[in-house]
Amino acid sequence: MITRHEAYDLSQRNTFGMRVSCRLYVEVTEPEDLLTLDLESLPQPLFVMGGGSNLLFTGDFPGTVLHLANQGHTVLPGPEADASGLLVRVAAGVVFDDFCAWAAQEGLWGPENLSLIPGEVGASAVQNIGAYGVEAKDIIETVHAFDLQDRRFVDIPGADCGYGYRTSLFKTAWKGRYIITAVTFHLSTVPQPKLDYGGVRKALEARWREEGIGSETLRSQSDLRPSHKWAPPSNVPRVAQVSDPIPSSLSPQMIRDTIIGIRRTKLPDPEEVGSAGSFFCNPVISREHFERIVAIAKEENGPDYEVPHYEVGDQVKVPAAWMIDQCGFKGMRLGGAQVYPKQPLVIVNASGDATPDEIVALERRVIDTIKDKYGIELHPEVEHV
Ligand SMILES: Cc1cc2nc3c(=O)[nH]c(=O)nc-3n(C[C@H](O)[C@H](O)[C@H](O)COP(=O)(O)OP(=O)(O)OC[C@H]3O[C@@H](n4cnc5c(N)ncnc54)[C@H](O)[C@@H]3O)c2cc1C
Repeated sequence: MITRHEAYDLSQRNTFGMRVSCRLYVEVTEPEDLLTLDLESLPQPLFVMGGGSNLLFTGDFPGTVLHLANQGHTVLPGPEADASGLLVRVAAGVVFDDFCAWAAQEGLWGPENLSLIPGEVGASAVQNIGAYGVEAKDIIETVHAFDLQDRRFVDIPGADCGYGYRTSLFKTAWKGRYIITAVTFHLSTVPQPKLDYGGVRKALEARWREEGIGSETLRSQSDLRPSHKWAPPSNVPRVAQVSDPIPSSLSPQMIRDTIIGIRRTKLPDPEEVGSAGSFFCNPVISREHFERIVAIAKEENGPDYEVPHYEVGDQVKVPAAWMIDQCGFKGMRLGGAQVYPKQPLVIVNASGDATPDEIVALERRVIDTIKDKYGIELHPEVEHV
C-alpha cells in the first residue's frame, strides 16, 4: 500500500524534533509497490528516510520524503544456515532495536551490543551503525534493495557495500540510487560476547554481584568458554552444541540489558529530549599534529595531563567530545540548542522548540572554536537535509 500526504509535518518524524514539513510524504508498506510508483512525477528532490534519527532538517523540505514501512522477519531455511548460526531477513521498516530485542530473546548472538540505537533496519545498513565494539557490517550478510536507476530489485552482498566507520557506499558513491527493502543478518548460535569496550565488562560484573549470581569475574575474552547446554530458540533448528565453561548466566539478553543500562546513563532519550545522537565524527590526525594538541593540553591542565586518544595505524584518533569539553562547550546553550551536558558530542534540542538555525549556529560555533584552538576541522556525523 502507498499513502501520500501533502504538506506533511515532519516534527514527529525526526528525533531532533525540528518543526519542519515536506511538500509530499509517501509511505510504502510493500516493497513491490515501488515498481508501480511513478517516481519521476513526484516533487523533487526525493529523500528516503528511516526513523529520522540521524538527520537535521535545516528547513522545510521542498520535495518528496519517502519512507519504506515494511515489517516482519523471516528465518531463512536450509543450506543458508550453517553449523554455528542462521540467517534472518529483516524488513527495512523494522525498528532496529526491536530486531535486537528479538535476537536476544531467542538467545542469538550478534546484535546485542547494538541495542537501543534508534532508527530502522534499512538505515542500519546505510550507516553501518556501531556501538561497544560491534558494527552492523559484522552481521550483515546481504542488503536487499530497489535500484532506482535500473528499476529492479537487487541483492548486494554485505562485503560489497564498502563498509567503514559509520559509512558505506550507500552514503557515498551510491547515494540516492537504492531504496533498501530488507537486510539479511547472520546471527550466531554459539556465544560470542564482546565485552571489552565502553565499560561493558565492568557493568556486567557489577550486575552479577548485585544479582548475587556469584563471585565470578569476567577476565578476558579468551576466558569465556561456553559451559551451559545452550537452548536453541523455539523456531530455529538446533545447530550448535556448546560444552566448555562460561558463567552460565551470560546470554545475549544479559549483555543487551547491560548495554541499555549504560546507554541510558549517557545518552539523551529521544522521547524526552531531541537529538540525533553523536553530532560530530571523531577526527583522525597525524602524530605530529597530535603532539601539538598534547602540548596545548599540558599547558592548560598541567604537565601530567594525558589526552585521550586511540592509535589508528600511524595516525591518531582524538575524541571530538574531549575537544568540545576542553573548549568549555559542555552544557552551553544557544537559543534552544545545547551541547548535552552528559555527553558533549551530542547537540540537543533542549527547549523542545529549537530551530534548525539555532542548531546550525551552535554547530558552527563548535567547529570554528575547535579549528582555532586545535587546527582541526570537525565534520558532522548527522546528515543535514
Ligand atoms: C540518542 C541517539 C543515539 C544514537 N546512538 C548511535 C550509536 O550508538 N551508534 C550509531 O551508529 N548511531 C547512533 N545514532 C544515530 C542513528 O540512530 C543511526 O544513524 C540510525 O541508523 C539512523 O536510522 P534511521 O532509521 O533513523 O535513519 P534516518 O536518520 O532516517 O536516515 C539515515 C540515512 O539512511 C538513509 N536511509 C534510511 N532508510 C533507508 C532505506 N530504507 N533505504 C535507503 N536509504 C535509507 C537516509 O536517506 C539517510 O541518509 C544515535 C541517534 C540518537 C538520536
